[in-house]
Amino acid sequence: MSERLRVGILGATGTVGQRFIQLLEEHPQFEVTALAASDRSAGKTYAEACAWRLPGEMPERVKQIVVKAPAPPLDCDFVFSSLPGDIAGKAEESFARAGYPTITNSSAHRMDADVPLLIPEVNHEHLALIDGQRAARGYDRGFIVTNPNCSTIVIAMALAPLHASFGVTSCIATTMQAISGAGYPGVASLDINDNVLPYIGGEEEKIESETLKILGRVRDGAISGAEMQVSAQCNRVNVTDGHMASVRVKVSRPASSDEVRDALASFMSLPQELQLHSAPAQPIIVRAEADRPQPRLDRDAGNGMSVTVGRITPDNVLDFRFVALGHNTIRGAAGAAILNAELLVARGYLIM
Ligand code: NAP
Repeated sequence: MSERLRVGILGATGTVGQRFIQLLEEHPQFEVTALAASDRSAGKTYAEACAWRLPGEMPERVKQIVVKAPAPPLDCDFVFSSLPGDIAGKAEESFARAGYPTITNSSAHRMDADVPLLIPEVNHEHLALIDGQRAARGYDRGFIVTNPNCSTIVIAMALAPLHASFGVTSCIATTMQAISGAGYPGVASLDINDNVLPYIGGEEEKIESETLKILGRVRDGAISGAEMQVSAQCNRVNVTDGHMASVRVKVSRPASSDEVRDALASFMSLPQELQLHSAPAQPIIVRAEADRPQPRLDRDAGNGMSVTVGRITPDNVLDFRFVALGHNTIRGAAGAAILNAELLVARGYLIM
């Protein structure tokens, strides 16, 4: 038996797919053995199909893998998916049904009642949904686990310790989202240069709904959503990587700025206890400088897996406010899914 689990990547040639390949290059538990993408790429080697757009070279070990269509069977033990939302739904179900644990970034199954929308530091107990999902859908070895939208994950990670300590009742978030969040080639340069686009299709709804599920509790085998109001406005800004959110929060128990700061800075959870390979030592880094976080300076904190929070101050309308930032293709996508897989190994759902 191989010492490492064999991984397939669906959407392997895209922005998130390339990030998966980069992050998995030296992974101690997983090795990439199968790649899938569209008809444009299927049948070619990865080196022929993929225009590599990350710094550094395409890893040697994937260059000669022949890209397949995103349909089972693939030569792997489980799959990561970064397929476009409109085709991900059916493709991911077919992999789960064929026995492949399917760990996805795509939005298609995030709000399914029986699918965990997982942030290992925030809601690892939501893995309890997997047994019911398998039973209800007739899956045997397969299942589907999702990670949140790339802005939602930043906001929800910052809200989690505040909700636990002070009971968040309302949250208003305004995002400034990087261009890479739209994939490649993404937004036309003539639209985004010297400009801010105040619309990202579906994004506000995702933040508003996903946050409640993520911060919800498991009751009788189902998620009972968090009882809070979330309002989001999303903007695309001229930044390559790193999604930032200005967040205002109302809480049910009074909290000073120092208490808010302490709750965020001291936040630790199961991935840190288990020392999962991709878990950052500090899930939330609190910065004291008046002008941080900034995408260029802070997106790579904790190897791109930490969320950086700053500008914590009382708010004249709600109770307090802050600015949160995370790397959209690492903590917001490929890194999030890999951390999910590491937790699934630790919890016995992915077996070496
Ligand atoms: P992308 O750069 O456009 O890449 C899309 C990938 O899907 C490519 O590998 C492409 O293959 C493949 N694909 C496209 N159409 C297909 C089809 N009809 N059949 C099979 N494969 C197809 O997009 P991305 O930014 O990586 O995003 C991928 C997914 O992750 C999306 O669901 C997105 O919402 C989600 N996501 C993205 C981010 C981010 O920051 N970018 C963050 C979180 C979640 P070809 O090269 O062969 O066309």
